[in-house]
Amino acid sequence: MPTILEPTDTSIEIAAEAMRSGFAVAFPTETVYGLGALTLDPRGISEVYRMKRRPAGNPLIAHVLDAPSARTVVESWCPRCDELASRLWPGPLTLVVPRRAVVPPAAVGGLETIAVRSPSHPVARRLLEELGGASVSAPSANRSGHVSPTLARHVAEDFTGEDDLIILDGGRSEFGLESTVIDLSGRVPRLLRPGTVTLESLRAILGEVEAPVIDAQDASPGTAARHYAPRTPAALAPVGGVRGALADANVPCAVLCFDATHVPGPHTAISMPRDARLYAGALYDALRSADALGCARILIESPPSADGLWRAVVDRLHRATA
Ligand code: AMP
Ligand code: MG
Repeated sequence: MPTILEPTDTSIEIAAEAMRSGFAVAFPTETVYGLGALTLDPRGISEVYRMKRRPAGNPLIAHVLDAPSARTVVESWCPRCDELASRLWPGPLTLVVPRRAVVPPAAVGGLETIAVRSPSHPVARRLLEELGGASVSAPSANRSGHVSPTLARHVAEDFTGEDDLIILDGGRSEFGLESTVIDLSGRVPRLLRPGTVTLESLRAILGEVEAPVIDAQDASPGTAARHYAPRTPAALAPVGGVRGALADANVPCAVLCFDATHVPGPHTAISMPRDARLYAGALYDALRSADALGCARILIESPPSADGLWRAVVDRLHRATA
């Protein structure tokens, strides 16, 4: 089993030393837990891909302390980068920009661009500081395609065989959904992945921003249709349509819904918050709990809206049920 450590000064030093020696370490961020290695160290980067069983063409997000740290891996830092970073960093916003030649192609899935973001979680920041402001490439700390982890325990459950893995425990991830990803490498900024920084707020800052159609084929590598998925087959029910969907179900289901009274036995209800922010924070833990119930199917009641923060939630629900 991996080792879960409280984030003391000593354990942060141990984690940083492991990364400098070419190992990957799991750490908390405000979005989800990350599995990180030094961006400029191909040994650690290949560990991340091996442990996650992640396809080589799926690029990693580089985590940095601030804009000056970002510039060590970014080739051209544009005025839009400055604008977004000064307003929204540290926070759950990832910028895709041309990369520097020193970045190993393996760290960016062979692309000429790199995704960078500055996490706000204090433990992530202490780790980056301990590493002297070096960039840490970290995808979500789960096996490829599985639900992202929002608790240290989730990471340990996905990597049971990795006895050398250190997991820094930073409690429950505040937002619970992966970062918003925006591509600034073209003429018009393009939203690659919706997140807690909403499309509406990006448009308010940048003006024009292209937005994805939810089922679009692979605009960004990690946006492949089925992703962030529980192991149990999952389906969406219409808003308020849980009772009707269950009437047709001939197997026991785990049901993520807004009103548990709509769920008769032998089905099991998992109550979800009606507030978008709270829903996002609870979603991945709920999907993992639904898996653990051992039901034949998971049924998820659709959210009441697809705007603002609900856009990111609906995006993840489509991928979990694709
Ligand atoms: P993860 O950290 O597992 O949520 O995955 C990071 C995701 O960020 C990838 O799957 C892509 O969707 C996106 N990403 C990272 N780097 C790039 C890049 N250079 N160009 C486009 N998208 C990227
Ligand atoms: Mg991921």
